[in-house]
Amino acid sequence: LEPLELLKNIDPDTALELVLSEARLGATETVSLSDSLNRVLAETVVADRDYPPFDRAMMDGYAVRIADTGRRVSIVGEVAAGQPSSLLVEPGTCVAIMTGAACPAGTEAVEKKERGQREGNSVLLPADIENNQHVVRKGQERQKGTVVLDKGMEITSLAIAAFASVGRKQISVIAAPRLAVITTGRELVLDDAEPQAYTIRDSNGVMLAAQIRQLGLPEPFVMHAEDTAESLASALERASEADLILFTGGVSKGRYDLVPDAVRDYGATVVFHKVTQKPGKPLLFAKTNRTLIFGLPGNPMSTHCCFHRYVAAAIKKIMGKSHTRCTDRARLASDLTLQSNRTLFHQGRVERDGDSWRLSPRTGRGSADFFSATDCTVYLRFPPGRHHLPAGTEVAFEWMDGYPR
Ligand code: AMP
Ligand code: MG
Repeated sequence: LEPLELLKNIDPDTALELVLSEARLGATETVSLSDSLNRVLAETVVADRDYPPFDRAMMDGYAVRIADTGRRVSIVGEVAAGQPSSLLVEPGTCVAIMTGAACPAGTEAVEKKERGQREGNSVLLPADIENNQHVVRKGQERQKGTVVLDKGMEITSLAIAAFASVGRKQISVIAAPRLAVITTGRELVLDDAEPQAYTIRDSNGVMLAAQIRQLGLPEPFVMHAEDTAESLASALERASEADLILFTGGVSKGRYDLVPDAVRDYGATVVFHKVTQKPGKPLLFAKTNRTLIFGLPGNPMSTHCCFHRYVAAAIKKIMGKSHTRCTDRARLASDLTLQSNRTLFHQGRVERDGDSWRLSPRTGRGSADFFSATDCTVYLRFPPGRHHLPAGTEVAFEWMDGYPR
């Protein structure tokens, strides 16, 4: 056997492992705060000063001394948020204060406005004021020079708030991989032309672009190649700047399935070809020293499933994100019968049903019929064999990217 032969008809778990072992963490790039959302932080961010930078009042009310609890004290002044103050809270006095203001020297607590009984220029304080209540002391959240956000975290809207707060305008993140999508097949009509009786419009190219965008990446470069060695070679050349190249179609056994040869002629090493799964058996995975190449089978449901399982995992790993899928369990809303000598993947729609999930499996005609899957949000997985699952059976599922919502 040639080494390549060993990597034919591998099982879906080995295939995923091989893909992940070739997908390496991307380089870093610097982006604006708004572009950093959902990316992975590639630096450790530290506090540029103490937070809060001053003793912060957390209520509108009075800055007081604890010894004055239960007493009437005179109001010696007022300090608003954003205002400097040289006032001093001395025994027998207080300062009127607003939320977010810097507490004047001598402040031991802040009492809420509505708990004080004000009369003219004095206020009767309640009998139960606690030390430091409604005050966050300088440096209590973070001290200058200490870590605010750790490298490797996925950037949330709150992380962006923290960057802005410590004065950052730009942030270092793991670079997003550049993707190129190459559709293949003579049957595809190009550029909005009217289809002939025997031709169809492209749907995989736009579907893959949407799956890619679902991962937070920009719209990829989508091009078309004819089923000829020359056209495929020229498409690969045009895609050579990409970190990942995705073919759709042209990887099966047909006479015009020329992608495997084109990929080898391009100088790539085929890591595996064909996976014992349904749909998606003809999947091809190859690499050069700088690019990963996926030959996704052309049937729309195969393309979708292989992207979901393998390409998305590779992209997430390159971007420094977790590639473990979010899973849960649901009850089948209708009977499901499936049969194959390969691992089965099947799409379904999951909806909330009281405290649990209810799953309507896709009904449709095999891996070409994506009309029956347009509302699907999850994948089911079954081992090879025959499965008859009556309605009500509990099954495990994994969410497609972008779900649950
Ligand atoms: P292939 O893998 O090239 O043999 O294609 C398998 C099936 O998928 C055929 O019925 C093709 O017409 C269909 N197909 C391939 N590429 C696309 C595409 N970009 N959009 C829609 N269907 C496609
Ligand atoms: Mg084809």
